[in-house]
Amino acid sequence: MFRRRPPRGGFRKIGRAEIPPLLKRANHLLNGGQFAEAGEAFEELAERAFARQGPRAPVFFLQAGRARVLNGQNEIGLAHFKRGLQLFINIGKPFRAHHAGQRIITELNRQGLASEAEQIQNFLATLLPNLPDGEAEDRPPLLPTHCPACGAALKPDEVEWLDSVTAECAYCGSPVRGA
Ligand SMILES: [Zn+2]
Repeated sequence: MFRRRPPRGGFRKIGRAEIPPLLKRANHLLNGGQFAEAGEAFEELAERAFARQGPRAPVFFLQAGRARVLNGQNEIGLAHFKRGLQLFINIGKPFRAHHAGQRIITELNRQGLASEAEQIQNFLATLLPNLPDGEAEDRPPLLPTHCPACGAALKPDEVEWLDSVTAECAYCGSPVRGA
């Protein structure tokens, strides 16, 4: 008799399955290039999270910023970026601010928005004058490209690591594991 092997089904999802429909919609819109609508959806998520002092308010502001910049609304986008980065500091996560800020700067430069990138660079410098070097650099980059629960694009340096193999989706809080 052969014992049936457990299904090897891609990425495991553990824990709660209560994903806000607005979050799924926002990710879907952003992934699908509907930036104005995505911006609105992430702004709503951000304000809601902020109102209840939720830990994910910063990432929602950053996504709102991305969507606005991709929609050509750079000024609104930058305001969202700054608010999100500031919120990371407020909740005691300077490394998250640092990594998110670096990523935004890279993205802005890639989009040919050098002066916007510089504004974020300067903002980050005032926000994090004494950031210690290193730490959180050697994370295993073994994640699915998108959160199986809410559909957000996952970036290894943007997620919160629960242990060495399990990360928490920054957008919905679902634990996500590599295969
Ligand atoms: Zn998620």
